[in-house]
Amino acid sequence: MKAIYTFGNGQAEGRADMRDLLGGKGANLAEMNLIGVPVPPGFTITTEVCRLYNEQGREAVVAMIKEDVKKSIQHIENLTGNKFNDPSNPQLVSVRSGAPVSMPGMMDTVLNLGINDAVADTLAQKSGNPRFAWDSYRRFVQMYGDVVLGMKPTNKTDIDPFEAIIEDVKAKKGVKFDTELDVDDLKELVARFKAAVKENTGKDFPTDAYDQLWGAIYAVFDSWNNDRAILYRRMNQIPEEYGTAVNVQAMVYGNMGNNSATGVCFSRDAGTGENLFNGEYLINAQGEDVVAGVRTPQQIMTEGSRRWAQLQGISEEERAAKYPSLEEAMPECAAQLVDIQQKLENHYHDMQDMEFTIQDGKLWLLQTRNGKRTGAAMVKIAMDLLREGAIDEKTVIKRMEPGKLDELLHPVFDKAAVKKAKVMAKGLPASPGAATGQIVFFADDAEEWASRKKKVIMVRLETSPEDLRGMSVAQGILTARGGMTSHAAVVARGMGKCCVSGAGEIKVDYKARTVMMGEKTYKEGDWISINGSTGEVYDGLVATVDADLSGDFAAVMNLAEKYSKMDVYTNADSPRDASVARKLGAHGIGLCRTEHMFFEGDRIKAMREMIIAPDEPSRRIALGKLLPLQRGDFEGIFEAMDGYEVTIRLLDPPLHEFVPHQLETMRELAEQTGRTLEEVKLVCDGLEEFNPMLGHRGCRLGNTYPEITEMQARAIIEAALNVKAKGVDVHPKIMVPLIGVKAEIQMQADIINATAQKVFAERGDTVAYKVGTMIEIPRAALVADQIAQVVDFFSFGTNDLTQMTFGYSRDDAGKFLAVYKNLGILKVDPFEVLDQEGVGQLVEMATRKGRATKPELNVGICGEHGGEPSSVKFCASLGMNYVSCSPYRVPIARLAAAQAAVEE
Ligand code: PEP
Ligand code: MG
Repeated sequence: MKAIYTFGNGQAEGRADMRDLLGGKGANLAEMNLIGVPVPPGFTITTEVCRLYNEQGREAVVAMIKEDVKKSIQHIENLTGNKFNDPSNPQLVSVRSGAPVSMPGMMDTVLNLGINDAVADTLAQKSGNPRFAWDSYRRFVQMYGDVVLGMKPTNKTDIDPFEAIIEDVKAKKGVKFDTELDVDDLKELVARFKAAVKENTGKDFPTDAYDQLWGAIYAVFDSWNNDRAILYRRMNQIPEEYGTAVNVQAMVYGNMGNNSATGVCFSRDAGTGENLFNGEYLINAQGEDVVAGVRTPQQIMTEGSRRWAQLQGISEEERAAKYPSLEEAMPECAAQLVDIQQKLENHYHDMQDMEFTIQDGKLWLLQTRNGKRTGAAMVKIAMDLLREGAIDEKTVIKRMEPGKLDELLHPVFDKAAVKKAKVMAKGLPASPGAATGQIVFFADDAEEWASRKKKVIMVRLETSPEDLRGMSVAQGILTARGGMTSHAAVVARGMGKCCVSGAGEIKVDYKARTVMMGEKTYKEGDWISINGSTGEVYDGLVATVDADLSGDFAAVMNLAEKYSKMDVYTNADSPRDASVARKLGAHGIGLCRTEHMFFEGDRIKAMREMIIAPDEPSRRIALGKLLPLQRGDFEGIFEAMDGYEVTIRLLDPPLHEFVPHQLETMRELAEQTGRTLEEVKLVCDGLEEFNPMLGHRGCRLGNTYPEITEMQARAIIEAALNVKAKGVDVHPKIMVPLIGVKAEIQMQADIINATAQKVFAERGDTVAYKVGTMIEIPRAALVADQIAQVVDFFSFGTNDLTQMTFGYSRDDAGKFLAVYKNLGILKVDPFEVLDQEGVGQLVEMATRKGRATKPELNVGICGEHGGEPSSVKFCASLGMNYVSCSPYRVPIARLAAAQAAVEE
């Protein structure tokens, strides 16, 4: 097994397509060497080693790679002419993690590794710049102390222990910025940092370069299994077994003086997708400064710089003097960077997110990767690249993350409401969108409030990977510090969350849990709104409107249409939902749950009257009241779906769900039906079941009370004839729920057909209709060949099918599913993501058996899984005719269906 791959000086043992083995960062560092981009030499320890580390432990892995690590360090030394662990001619390195997919939860970076007192002295002497040497040293102790030795704040309202020391030194000196500290201050910082480490960990800070290196390597491997990384993998469905690579690279210094700099840049705008090279940099700084938000980063390009200044309300004079672009400050390096970003984008055919450092006028690239982006940017960039001829249509489809389309469907601020809104502060438009919610300051509070269904906006000085969980449940994020490439901005864009960053004038007080904006002090729980597209922060709630779905979004949807082989229907119970879904591209209704209609207005009264009826004649009287109501509903839905199939499901839930549970409403019902309260109570109590989900529900209702099915079938057929008379192209499908035995569906089909014939005779007109069944009981899947003899179509009710296959109650599983996921017993919630391994077998078998009986059998799915991308792809692989999902998931399902077709 080859454990380490080296690169440097235009050569590399790895390649871009080795990301599984080298991680994304390592693979691209290798590739950049191969295509002539300047990259400091280094090496990558493979993800395979990480897996061994997790399986066999530290000692085994060190024994295995110790010699290789030494040799690879020599490879760096040979190319730079310096020596690691040699104070007379020191080589420092950076150590960074890098998984096959980028993961913000892991250990990120340790810079300047290999430094100690003697090395710092040599660096000071050789560079003639003691400030640089001691600045590097204090950064190293701080980063190493934080990420390797685990020196974190003890309390959530405390600041970082190292930052506290820095603040103290700055305060004593009366200065504001780190850059104002001199060599003696920096020496003091190093000494105090080390003392803090000793006090906290009980150990001396390591001085040997190899000890430092191994500590960092262990920290990278260990970070694969820290809570944040595990959470991130769960949120993004990244396999546990991937492992991370470790990248060790010769240091280049952006903090060597005013001819040095460091920055982050994107070949296109990650928020909007605009084809505009953009980014941020800082002179005389190192990597983390740009994203840490301590100093105000400057823009790379002059155009971007002018736009930034305008947003910040900074005059052109002030901008040019204080915040010049890289183009203005270091024109040659900027020009070279422009060429390189273009070269990298052309090479990878995608928007690149790059890190660079300029050491004494020489440009080095430290990283490139396909940039994280918002849903809007994802769509625009892919369509632009298609128009530019860089990628083809199928690639556009493959590039889409179906779940991200969701962001494009979210509401935006109502223009008129925004005009009237009071702007309290302004920051950077870090991640577009509209968010309105109550202020919280801490991630755990965000989670707790969100769990109580509250909408929150997380307001922070800046965010860190610890805040991930809170950010994921917040409506939006507002930070006081940090630029467009800050943690908050990058993570928010990745999540598609609205974010305003770097709103410098807001004053956050964690201890008091307040934020001051202008004159007003907001407390935790106060409402604000933030506009991630303009950077504005508004007082209170601002109204929103539906998003516009034309342009590139429509173009991507057309491509999806062109390539997909499976249709997408919607689950809708009202004309309104039906038209929303139709606008989003639904080609029919796969599930209309009739029972939802019974809860509207006064209808429940007629329904209750029907339920408590003592005999068939009185039940028929009550049903007679429900008939016109249902017929009216169906007419509305048929009209909204003119030209498309509409699948209407007969009554499904246990009757007990409809009866009154309070004495007051029982009394009303008694009065309404002319019966005594005792009688009503008796009937209602009698409907109680120990296990209603497995009780008197579904087709069992229609088979024990055939008049219910008769009424519903009549309402459907009459409605169809009525709209047909108005010129509507109507295609009704009548669906029977909860079938397990062939005779059950036979009996229901007989009632439906007899009723239809009766109505046709009465009306002297006919309409084509289909009769089908849900497959949602395991037994139905097992005898699907028999059931198919009776029906025209199957629709998999995978909610119930999952419930009954796992034996997990849909309504109670929440209690243990979270624990099961934490324990790793289940990877995902099977009610969300179809369990292909188990439940999927039943779906596959039933489809196969059904079609063996009836080759033209129409097959679809209408459980919640019909809108979940991996489940949609599974349905496509079985050759289903359609999936059906809630209206707002229709575009997601359409894309997943197209992906299934192009990935075939
Ligand atoms: C199902 O069981 O998957 C289904 C669609 O029906 P319901 O959710 O109404 O039980
Ligand atoms: Mg069901």
